[in-house]
Amino acid sequence: MPQPFDPATREALLARVRFYRDLGLTEFYRRPVDPALLAQLEAQSIAPPVEELVLPPTSRAPSFPRPLAERVGDHQPQLSSSAEHTSQEDRPIAPRKPFPASPEIGATVPAADRAKFLALIREDIGDCTRCALHKGRNKIVFGDGSPTARLMFVGEGPGADEDAQGIPFVGKAGQLLNNMIAAMGLKREEVYIANVVKCRPPGNRTPEPDEANTCSPFLFRQIDVVRPQVLVALGATAATYLLGARQPLAGLRGRVHAFRGMQLIVTYHPAYLLRDPRQKKEAWADLQIAMRELGLKPPGKG
Ligand code: URA
Repeated sequence: MPQPFDPATREALLARVRFYRDLGLTEFYRRPVDPALLAQLEAQSIAPPVEELVLPPTSRAPSFPRPLAERVGDHQPQLSSSAEHTSQEDRPIAPRKPFPASPEIGATVPAADRAKFLALIREDIGDCTRCALHKGRNKIVFGDGSPTARLMFVGEGPGADEDAQGIPFVGKAGQLLNNMIAAMGLKREEVYIANVVKCRPPGNRTPEPDEANTCSPFLFRQIDVVRPQVLVALGATAATYLLGARQPLAGLRGRVHAFRGMQLIVTYHPAYLLRDPRQKKEAWADLQIAMRELGLKPPGKG
């Protein structure tokens, strides 16, 4: 029987998993536990150490070589931050599924019609029950901001605050995103913000591939309607499902990707920056690439 973690160990373990996830590492397995050690731990009532959670051999070093264009649907079930999910750690490895092709690029919508077209997408979503995430949600978090924005941000999925309010990025990570937007010399109302999934994953875990693949066609439609000049993927999940390939964030940051006729820039998720503020400098460098593409200068720099 797997041993439950005590709360402190569990929290440390989850922090570690989130950290790896933000780096683009989402495959984990648990090293088989030595029965003698287990017996000893049981006798002492000590939970297995965090180090029992190890990365696959190919993923352990920061600059690990991983196959490029590894498909999202190929990865094994992830250990994530939800009680629901961690309780299924021992389930069989999911069969490899082909990654769905990106939807065809939609026709250009005249600026004056974009709000109406976004409303139609929202109508199509309806009171969605297409994936399991609907069971735990309070509000569908569709998107927020200007339908004619030149700059769009894509996050992973709603958290508790967003689920309660029905608006993306209104919690702590949202405050940091607001600051990032202000530092670019823009107002939040001038950009458009959406997520890969529109319903809160339980315990803020990473969306499962079937959840993200079910929801992301709506995101692609939103992107095609708004048709921003620059799209910023916040974190590994957004980058993965937009680009249709899972690669470490480090290899995706710091450059412009061609994406559906737009420019896509990948940077750290604000929630990750809250946990590791030292990376803010790197994130700012990414945002400066976006500003350069948009012809923006930081406020106060004429
Ligand atoms: N994190 C996200 O990825 N999206 C939100 O809307 C809020 C937090």
